[in-house]
Amino acid sequence: MGAVAFDYIIVGAGSAGCVLANRLSANGKHSVLLLEAGRNDRSLLVQIPVCWTQVAYHDDFNWGYAAEAEASTANRRMAWPRGKVIGGSSSINGMIHVRGHRDDFNAWRDAGCEGWDWDGVLPYFERSECHAGENHAGPALNIRDIEHSEAGDLFLASCKAYGLAALDDFNQGEQEGAGYYKCAIANGRRQSTSVCYLKPAQKRANLEMLSGALCERIIFAGTRATGVRVNRGGEQFTYGANCEVIIAAGAVNSPQLLQLSGVGPLDLLQRHGIAPVHALQGVGRNLKDHLGTMVGYQIEAVPAIYHDMKPLGLVKQLYRYMRHRSGLLSMPATQVGGFYRSSDSRQRPDIQLYFLPVSGARDENNQNQIDKDPSVTGMILHLLPESAGTVMIKSVKPDEAPAINTNYLATEYDRDAQLQGFKKLREIFRQKPIADHCKVELRPGKHIQSDDEILDFVRCEATTGYHPVGTCKMGVDDQAVVDTALRVRGCQGLRVVDASIMPDIVAGNTNAATVMIAEKASDMILADAR
Ligand SMILES: Cc1cc2nc3c(=O)[nH]c(=O)nc-3n(C[C@H](O)[C@H](O)[C@H](O)COP(=O)(O)OP(=O)(O)OC[C@H]3O[C@@H](n4cnc5c(N)ncnc54)[C@H](O)[C@@H]3O)c2cc1C
Repeated sequence: MGAVAFDYIIVGAGSAGCVLANRLSANGKHSVLLLEAGRNDRSLLVQIPVCWTQVAYHDDFNWGYAAEAEASTANRRMAWPRGKVIGGSSSINGMIHVRGHRDDFNAWRDAGCEGWDWDGVLPYFERSECHAGENHAGPALNIRDIEHSEAGDLFLASCKAYGLAALDDFNQGEQEGAGYYKCAIANGRRQSTSVCYLKPAQKRANLEMLSGALCERIIFAGTRATGVRVNRGGEQFTYGANCEVIIAAGAVNSPQLLQLSGVGPLDLLQRHGIAPVHALQGVGRNLKDHLGTMVGYQIEAVPAIYHDMKPLGLVKQLYRYMRHRSGLLSMPATQVGGFYRSSDSRQRPDIQLYFLPVSGARDENNQNQIDKDPSVTGMILHLLPESAGTVMIKSVKPDEAPAINTNYLATEYDRDAQLQGFKKLREIFRQKPIADHCKVELRPGKHIQSDDEILDFVRCEATTGYHPVGTCKMGVDDQAVVDTALRVRGCQGLRVVDASIMPDIVAGNTNAATVMIAEKASDMILADAR
């Protein structure tokens, strides 16, 4: 008996995969199989926004990756959470909704990606977002404003005193300024692509979804993808693809799956004894991420999460959440922040700013340890890194994590952006009114002052911004893995559609751009089917 076949097989029910599953099955003409290695997303930990700090590091929902030890980040094995659950990383992320700067996409076009400039992607951002009070045909992410807080207002007043203009929407192409973010939270619940795209489509007879299904290999006839091999509960299954296999496994797993399947750097394939299907040097290269550095302060005479964590505070917050779906439990990763330039010579902001009404650190088990005093955190992310890392398989075993070499801080500019961005962050905290409330710097502390000391602190304490992209980049040069229609170069019947196809990282949190990519790809795939 031949393998069960579907028109489209989507590998990975993450941010991109759930969008594709909805769009490709919508007209009822095509059969679609959606494969997800992780489990369902019914847990309250996934649904209640504030629990993201737990769920992101929870073994049940996370691949549990760690970057390789590198001297540039003090030989730490930095935790690199990636969602392993329906909804993928959109089910464990911080829910901040930022599209990116218009020049991010114009640069993609300038690099040869016709149709991916700001004007080309804007309709897909708009299609993928439903704002409060909007009459939207859907499906789309429900995007809402974040609740204001006294600490957030104080911080924004200090941003203004520092010279950062108020901006009430970072998503119109320009970003410089400070304000409250928008978030993918509605009615106190996380709005993942599982919630917003997959759930409305799940009852369609032409869409089948398998969780706990690890895709181990793409099956090829010559260079045409004809199906997939899947491991489910220790048993292997084969599924055929009449039209296309679409890899949407994310920036770590998509290059891993291509390499395991014989599409990748020739020397890597040969080293692991994998028969090459097609040599593509760029698979797993061009890994970009936003490196983040934090500063923590004690805060006086202003409500902070510290107060909400006391027994009475918790009772009040629980009541608020149950009654109004608001308050602490409905909070995303940060409330306020903004964008500024690390140096006046930059053409546009290259630093993103977060402010959180809490501070603390993760212990050796990645558990969040909140500081014992009322405290707040300022955090910077370097948005436009030059340094690029790699994701390369370590063995032919599909369940063995690939080597993630981040190569953070490899260039002078990347180090300088962290340094200047950090100094400017401290400068904001020196402005009134926040300065009147934040007199003691808890982390790194006043003793860290010289450039060398600050850079050393960055190397020892900076963390991933959780935004890896670029490892199967779209483009026209010899490192490009997919063309501008996201078809894998040199292969047929095979696309990659997820954060890995970004030619370069966008200046902002990466979920919105990933959803946009999947929306645009779905139009291309359906157009090719006609
Ligand atoms: C902790 C954290 C916080 C973040 N915070 C934010 C934020 O606040 N705002 C924002 O915009 N972005 C944020 N991000 C980033 C954003 O969520 C990601 O950029 C985005 O989700 C990437 O989408 P994707 O489709 O490329 O991959 P994913 O959403 O990760 O989806 C990949 C899916 O494929 C599955 N998969 C992988 N390999 C296989 C296989 N072989 N077989 C079957 N299934 C497989 C995975 O389990 C996963 O479900 C955060 C990410 C993390 C991890």
